Amino acid sequence: MAVATDPKRRQRLIDGRYMTCPRCREKQDVLRFVPMGIIEEFKDETNPIYKCPECRWVFSPSLTIAEWRMMLDSEES
Ligand SMILES: [Zn+2]
Repeated sequence: MAVATDPKRRQRLIDGRYMTCPRCREKQDVLRFVPMGIIEEFKDETNPIYKCPECRWVFSPSLTIAEWRMMLDSEES
């Protein structure tokens, strides 16, 4: 049986205001990632999609609602 990945060794994608691209592993300010279109009316029911400014990888980090709120709030201020 495979040994489970040690959570301490695995880098988290989100670290405060910084996000790591899962493809190129570049850690950058969340604001540097290009958000793909979000419809304001359904913001709470959809997951934002980001594009990495380095390698152009498109991904949607899986976060809790509370984590998304923090991310989106930090973008607005
Ligand atoms: Zn990247």
